[in-house]
Amino acid sequence: MPADELPAAPHTVADWFRGYEENGRLRGFRCAHCGLVTATWGLACPRCGRSEYVDRDLPPTGAVVAYTILSVPGDDFLNDAPYAYVVVELDGGGRVTGWMPTVRDPTQLAIGDRVRFHPGYKPGVQFVKESDAGTSA
Ligand SMILES: [Zn+2]
Repeated sequence: MPADELPAAPHTVADWFRGYEENGRLRGFRCAHCGLVTATWGLACPRCGRSEYVDRDLPPTGAVVAYTILSVPGDDFLNDAPYAYVVVELDGGGRVTGWMPTVRDPTQLAIGDRVRFHPGYKPGVQFVKESDAGTSA
């Protein structure tokens, strides 16, 4: 790409926020130059600086790297609080934020716990513990 040319993405930011979790898939990017996998929309790779992102599905499983219990939610989640707001490191790369309606107390979750993306009708990326994934609706 010539230096005076702005990078371009095949979709808009609005597309990305709508499509972040879409049809039961988590969408992300892989840098074709250095291989970085990320869930964060961008025009250039934060590791190598190239503009060679290609869309890819992200794996639905990962591990909790941070969480908090949220007790004062927005309107869409009034009936769900308290619930865990989590940061998940996906298997194979990429971090996403999401929520876990089955976790209502900090003692019910731990850093490193295995979780699985659980598509639902609510907004946001919903996760369940992998140990619960087979039994929850
Ligand atoms: Zn890169």
